[in-house]
Amino acid sequence: MPLEFLKRRGNQSAEPAKAAQPATLSTALPEEIVAQEHQLKLYYAGKSSEGVRMKAGPNAMAELPSMLVGLALAEIEVVEPLPIEFSQATPTIARPSEAMQWLNAHHVHSPITRHALVVLESIDAVDLAFDTFVCSLLDGEVDTSGYPEYNAIVGGVASHWDEATGDMICRAVVGWGGRGVRGDTDRIGAKLLAGILTNVLASQYALGITSIERPVPAAGRGGLVCAHCGFASAHERAFYCPKCGMRLLRG
Ligand SMILES: [Zn+2]
Repeated sequence: MPLEFLKRRGNQSAEPAKAAQPATLSTALPEEIVAQEHQLKLYYAGKSSEGVRMKAGPNAMAELPSMLVGLALAEIEVVEPLPIEFSQATPTIARPSEAMQWLNAHHVHSPITRHALVVLESIDAVDLAFDTFVCSLLDGEVDTSGYPEYNAIVGGVASHWDEATGDMICRAVVGWGGRGVRGDTDRIGAKLLAGILTNVLASQYALGITSIERPVPAAGRGGLVCAHCGFASAHERAFYCPKCGMRLLRG
């Protein structure tokens, strides 16, 4: 009796499953697997020039935006170095903590500047741990939301304080990119880079071309609070305040 009972139950449960199976379904692995391809190629590129040593001081800092006059096709924006609370800011949406810091730091800027920062930070052409970045649209067009097209060129002047001397060092930086690439963008970018460098060298504070030693950004907790402007640097090894350029005093 118990055996018959089990048998009956087995048959009952097997029948509906059998009926639901289409006749053509096979669990055998086919010789060739049909795969749909999905891909996105993002292309970011940029160029930065040699540095120009400047007579340091607040006047030289205030003159940075004027170096883009005649080249900028949109508003010229100044992005200041990021303080310690934004030391992990990265434009990478899959890392929510870093992405939130980045958005909190940059949501005030224009779409052009945000695009420029995504491109230029991704390719390590600017580092806001120590750079001040003056930025605009330099070539091409923006879409209906105001964001540069993939072949538009953005950029401007990045400046930092030389850790050895405290002089301001300026360099021209341009970048472009997105979902596509066009053949002549590189050539136009090179031309714009030369144009910006010409403007930097034409500044009354320019002392001449210099080799750049970019500061090494901090990996850890950050550095000191500037006694002059109150800026809390995320840059552990800085001798000079990334924001105002005054010498940082050590404990
Ligand atoms: Zn300062």
